[in-house]
Amino acid sequence: MAEQVDLLGMDRPALEAFFAQLGEKPYRAVQVMKWIHQRGVADFDAMTDISKALRQKLKAIARIKTPRIVTEQRSQDGTIKWLLEVDQHNFIETVFIPEKDRGTLCISSQVGCALDCRFCATGKQGFNRNLENWEIIAQMWVATKALDSDPKRNRRITNVVFMGMGEPLLNVTHVFPAANILMDDNAYGLSKRRVTISTAGVVPAIDKMSRELDACLAVSLHAPNNALRDELVPINQKYPLEELMPALHRYVEASSHKKHIVIEYVMIDGVNDRLEHAEALLALLKGLPCKVNLIPFNPFPGSPYQRASNNQVHRFQRVLLQAGQNCTIRKTRGDDIDAACGQLAGRVKDRTGRQQKYQPIRMDAIAL
Ligand code: SAH
Repeated sequence: MAEQVDLLGMDRPALEAFFAQLGEKPYRAVQVMKWIHQRGVADFDAMTDISKALRQKLKAIARIKTPRIVTEQRSQDGTIKWLLEVDQHNFIETVFIPEKDRGTLCISSQVGCALDCRFCATGKQGFNRNLENWEIIAQMWVATKALDSDPKRNRRITNVVFMGMGEPLLNVTHVFPAANILMDDNAYGLSKRRVTISTAGVVPAIDKMSRELDACLAVSLHAPNNALRDELVPINQKYPLEELMPALHRYVEASSHKKHIVIEYVMIDGVNDRLEHAEALLALLKGLPCKVNLIPFNPFPGSPYQRASNNQVHRFQRVLLQAGQNCTIRKTRGDDIDAACGQLAGRVKDRTGRQQKYQPIRMDAIAL
């Protein structure tokens, strides 16, 4: 028997094409999307507005595969972290962060990460593979279902950020359709202002995103000059600031409503948190519609850095604010369960050899 196709990861055009091949009307795609994503149904037999004959056919050729929840950890602050098994060797992490007025789901796009940013635990795990569409959207499916069955019932996912494990812009083939499912009214119906792709700066993919995906962009800048950024975010050696910054301007120009970009800046004690870094950052961002989000560094076992003090973070913020640059400080959430930014490690069957012997990856070896 030919392999069954996965319906969980199909966006609307893909599902419509699938049903067209079966000689079915396009509205079948909408029906099935609603069953899967709005009602959390993974069993064709439960799809009662679809004829028995069609259900039988679907069961034979298609499947709605969902990952096994290995663990669910709850932080004192309400943050929830799930470890999900995507295949025998690979496990990814997904985090839900409740706030007063919203609930953010932080999802993974790859098993591990090839970029090896110096301050990130995921990079230290090495890299195995891209996640498929269904594995990406399954994180939303699982979390929505888990929160729906929560007795408190007052938590909802209002925002999704691709800030879990992996570099989403090195996996656009699977990330873009998954993002479209998040924003589809027949699925999760999130607004394009509430779905954010975060990138370490993959320049060609930023241009691709501005043509192909209408969602928000966040950029992990972390340093205001090439010398420092080369060290902290090694993909800077391939796409240095003189290529990245024009790409960000192009991105804003191309968007119809002049989108703001979020600039992420991790605050590491004595490394990038000096006031002269703040001044240099201001100069670099001049003329770019953006909001700076300062992230106090979250330590992990073996990390070489310390978190900048609260005082220093606030001083840095003040320099930006006084110059009229919008700037917020990210609250650290879920660090008691290792769910904070940069602490997601999952379990990765590494193929880079990094787990055995630490070695920086060659930037020219990264395939787009
Ligand atoms: N690869 C993407 C998304 C994953 S990381 C990217 O680079 O943007 C999400 C955010 O957490 C990024 O801004 C990343 O730089 C930041 N981060 C990683 N490790 C961190 C750490 N130890 N402490 C604080 N933030 C960290």
